[in-house]
Amino acid sequence: MRIDLHAHSTVSDGTDTPAELMAAAAAAGLDVVALTDHDTTAGWAEALDALPTGLRLIRGAEFSCLAPDGRGGRVSVHLLGYLFDPASEMIISEAARLRDERRARLRAMADRMAADGFPVDPDAVLGGLPPETPAGRPHLARALVSAGVVGSVEEAFHRFLGSGGPYYLGRADTDVATAVRMVRAAGGVPVLAHPAARRRGPVIAPAVIAELAAHGLAGVEVDHPDHTGDERAALGDLAAALGLLITGSSDYHGANKTVSLGQEMTDPQVLERIEELAAGSPVTAVTG
Ligand code: AMP
Ligand code: FE
Ligand code: FE
Ligand code: ZN
Repeated sequence: MRIDLHAHSTVSDGTDTPAELMAAAAAAGLDVVALTDHDTTAGWAEALDALPTGLRLIRGAEFSCLAPDGRGGRVSVHLLGYLFDPASEMIISEAARLRDERRARLRAMADRMAADGFPVDPDAVLGGLPPETPAGRPHLARALVSAGVVGSVEEAFHRFLGSGGPYYLGRADTDVATAVRMVRAAGGVPVLAHPAARRRGPVIAPAVIAELAAHGLAGVEVDHPDHTGDERAALGDLAAALGLLITGSSDYHGANKTVSLGQEMTDPQVLERIEELAAGSPVTAVTG
């Protein structure tokens, strides 16, 4: 059994459409693939429709979260949720909160730039966005390009909007313990994504992973392209000590990353356990 539990489509920052991703998973010889776009389930329907015969789809998402860093600050972490009900009340209300927070934050960034004399109209930046679109820095960056303030989105990030830049404001991402409870409340299975990926920035402390286990965290993604051998060994020991499942996944993003589908895989017994934990969820694994 070839099982890859983490892949992105064009619905977030991958380059394969959900349908193309299903075809690519079959072509890579996978038996099971999880679709885990960032902060959205919008690709599920297309993936289901396009599911090739014999391939199983685990419907999921990768939630952007904040965790305590153990030193009084916070670190950005990603939480994979599998087989949760997207119509669950907690999922819906948290998505609405994030949408509102993102709009307020983008408006505050645009307001600050306008106050400093840049030709940006916060109402126009916000007003041009469909209500369901998560407002983000790329929208402000494109407005700055249109206004001729910068020559490219890249330059807008470099000069103004990057973290540490003069107009950067942090996001109010979901607290990771809340997200763990949210996925569980929706009948799903929460697994911490790439928790030891140091080259992405500061990582979550083992003590915080232990706390999350107490909140209902089911597993940790140990075999991930961004983890070294030593990091996998340490994380594997921690998972064993805490009774957490160990998963392996490519975190495929199509042409946006060099990893390939099935480059890292999950043990069939672990998948079986994930499906047992999600038993009763209205969203179950489906086979094409
Ligand atoms: P936000 O969610 O508003 O914090 O914006 C994050 C998004 O901005 C990311 O998903 C990227 O698509 C984009 N982004 C971040 N840094 C850069 C950069 N240096 N150049 C271009 N786009 C970037
Ligand atoms: Fe991504
Ligand atoms: Fe991630
Ligand atoms: Zn990912």
